[in-house]
Amino acid sequence: MAAILALDVGGTKIAAGLVEPDGSLTYVATLPTRADQGTEVVWAVVAELLENALERAGGRVAAVGIGSAGPIDVNAGTVSPVNIAGWRGFALRDRVAAAVPGVPVRLGGDGVCMALGEYRHGAGRGTRSMLGMVVSTGVGGGLVVDGAPLHGRTGNAGHVGHVIVDPDGERCRCGGRGCVETIASGPAMVRWALANGWTPEASSADAKALAAAADAGDPVALRAFRRGTDALAVMITSVAAVCDLDLVVIGGGVAKSGALLFDPLRTALAERAGLDFLVGLQVVPAELGGDAGLVGAAVLATLV
Ligand SMILES: [Zn+2]
Repeated sequence: MAAILALDVGGTKIAAGLVEPDGSLTYVATLPTRADQGTEVVWAVVAELLENALERAGGRVAAVGIGSAGPIDVNAGTVSPVNIAGWRGFALRDRVAAAVPGVPVRLGGDGVCMALGEYRHGAGRGTRSMLGMVVSTGVGGGLVVDGAPLHGRTGNAGHVGHVIVDPDGERCRCGGRGCVETIASGPAMVRWALANGWTPEASSADAKALAAAADAGDPVALRAFRRGTDALAVMITSVAAVCDLDLVVIGGGVAKSGALLFDPLRTALAERAGLDFLVGLQVVPAELGGDAGLVGAAVLATLV
């Protein structure tokens, strides 16, 4: 059986891969998005990746799956990623279909694809309803409910980073206020720590340095993580109450800090869970790392 060609479109890089039915990646290539340039410059990056992947596949693939940063419109097949200014209502699905004719082309949000990848081939194997999420420079995610990806009306379901956890909180870059992303993303935790007296030793005050400081026992850094994980717990409890989840899988740069994130998160979840079906909700690290989006896009391409 021919491999599936998967695309993962992000604001800083675009990846293409060949994915076998068992979820293994036999080929991956990545190029910078060139997001600050025009519509066709970014498309040329995709076209080059498609051409190279097709050549590697011997000119034949079974289907194409695309995961894209949002907002997207799965019905129209268009994407308008926040961080790719030149793509507004860009007809990505049709352009890819024209470049790879004769096979099905499916488009989904990058969060949904990450969740699908982990659900089928990663930490979510064996579950039925899970939230897959990424905590890094933002907070993103996607849902698989009753064994199927949850797309919603336009394909943007699962934007859990914009669940409101503090109605009077800070303004979010989405235009809303008090979204979990304004508290729990890496930059948000760093910002709070700096404003509350954290003095980083290294010249770079980033989430990695904050994690190192917390590991070394810095009280402000620890409080920043505690504050972030508590906000995440509020969001996760709310989403789990709506969707009756088996599992939450967390990936991304901040999740790499391991116990620093997961221990307080599990404690906060245990404290907040009231309803029977929320008690004991499992939260685990992602297994597929940066490949989850590609693997999940390939899974999406195989769904009817
Ligand atoms: Zn927001």
